Amino acid sequence: ASSGSMIVVSNRLPFVLQRNEKGNLVRKASAGGLVTAVAPVVVNGNGLWVGWPGIHLDDPNEPIPESDPNDITPTAGLKSKKVVAVQIDPVKFDDYYNGCCNATFWPLFHSMPDRAVFKRDKWKAYTEVNKEFAKCTIDALKNLKKSGDDVGPDAPLVWIHDYHLMVAANWVRQAAEEQEIQCKIGFFLHIPFPPWDIFRLFPWADEILQGMLGCDMVGFHITDYCLNFVDCCQRSLGCRVDRKNLLVEHGGRTVRVRPLPIGIPFERFVELAEKAPKVLATNQKIILGVDRLDYTKGLVHRLLAFEALLEKYPEHKEKVSLLQIAVPSRTDVKEYQDLKEEMDQLVGRINGRFTTPNWSPIRYIYGCVSQDELAAFYREAAVGLVTPLRDGMNLVAKEFVACQINVPPGVLIVSPFAGAGETMHEAIICNPYEIESASESIHRALTMPEDERILRMNYLRRREKLNDVNYWTRSFLHAMGSLLTQGDHDD
Ligand code: UDP
Repeated sequence: ASSGSMIVVSNRLPFVLQRNEKGNLVRKASAGGLVTAVAPVVVNGNGLWVGWPGIHLDDPNEPIPESDPNDITPTAGLKSKKVVAVQIDPVKFDDYYNGCCNATFWPLFHSMPDRAVFKRDKWKAYTEVNKEFAKCTIDALKNLKKSGDDVGPDAPLVWIHDYHLMVAANWVRQAAEEQEIQCKIGFFLHIPFPPWDIFRLFPWADEILQGMLGCDMVGFHITDYCLNFVDCCQRSLGCRVDRKNLLVEHGGRTVRVRPLPIGIPFERFVELAEKAPKVLATNQKIILGVDRLDYTKGLVHRLLAFEALLEKYPEHKEKVSLLQIAVPSRTDVKEYQDLKEEMDQLVGRINGRFTTPNWSPIRYIYGCVSQDELAAFYREAAVGLVTPLRDGMNLVAKEFVACQINVPPGVLIVSPFAGAGETMHEAIICNPYEIESASESIHRALTMPEDERILRMNYLRRREKLNDVNYWTRSFLHAMGSLLTQGDHDD
């Protein structure tokens, strides 16, 4: 028999629903590393996935289609009976998602409080939507019990994801206690958790902490975020805490706090890098940046650092190009439109200043590139330039080292304000706010001796290979004290 079951709860399901020409619902798979790692736990165990399907249905009972028979993504095995599509009133959903998650928590948790908007009605929508997710989760737990499937001797696990659902856990716990439903609840935050002095700017900060403390275990990428959370619980709620063992006492229970740095599907990226055709027809060295177009990513600072490099070290002219991919993101929000405008101007100005008949310093792609193609860029770049002003982890840094299969390899530059900067010690660590020294870091990377490059890249790759995304999922399950494993079948 399987040793348990798991309900994953996230803002979005691991696929989106769309209407085809005939008006029928079809699934469109998402292929992120997280989905790849977590989906097997749900598919192979007695699991369920609760989330928003990416479309508002007029008839909430319209059945969810099965996956396409040709679908080979990890969610293909996710039968419709394992999926709970949460339906929310469109206006309320917009207040929750854009009004609160993206306009408030995104900037605040990235320690950019000046960009954060605090509005009571948006927060209200947030709590209501979290309540609806919690209700769907409780129904799912009940169905699991009724389904007749062997749910195993352990209490089912509920695994809630990210800043969209920070107060859902406590609703789930309360309802489960009232209705005598057994479960263990875990939460993972995919973005930073800010220091107390930033966190407390949010007028309803205590309610967030109380919501998260409904869990048995709360996970963050790195120890600093864990300590920030523990600190907030102590200073805002007056909880007794144990900083050494990362424990918080609340409501007569002890909540575990754990650093669980996320990884990538390392082998998949190695394979992509091995089979990707050569795409960069150039004999110039490529400095590569890959980001969503977001103000947390430090794109403007990065372009200025590159400009400073060309000024200070003219020997790189006509020898080096910056290839920057900027994926359109939250394009209906003014701040993101302004950033796009600023980038367009800056790229134009720098290229206008330095371009020669045979060379342009910056190649700027405003658009999304497939991971197959990204793998080729990662492989062929001489420098991976990952300089966010603040970033929970940053997967691009990890994908870059996975794909650096050529010998001698290139060099990774990482900001200390990304989770990746905290864990990828052999990268060149570069403060993106200091333009001059950032340009020095790029120069150092471009001129680094081969043996040093090999040594650094070997260490970086070894760590990411060991600590890949499957390891992350196992660590989460372990931290939950679960007997569930990723490949758990009915064996
Ligand atoms: N990505 C992609 N196509 C692109 C640019 C990025 O598929 O054109 C993927 C990239 O491979 C990575 C993810 O988007 O897996 C970005 O994750 P990261 O943690 O770096 O940043 P986030 O966007 O989550 O803030």
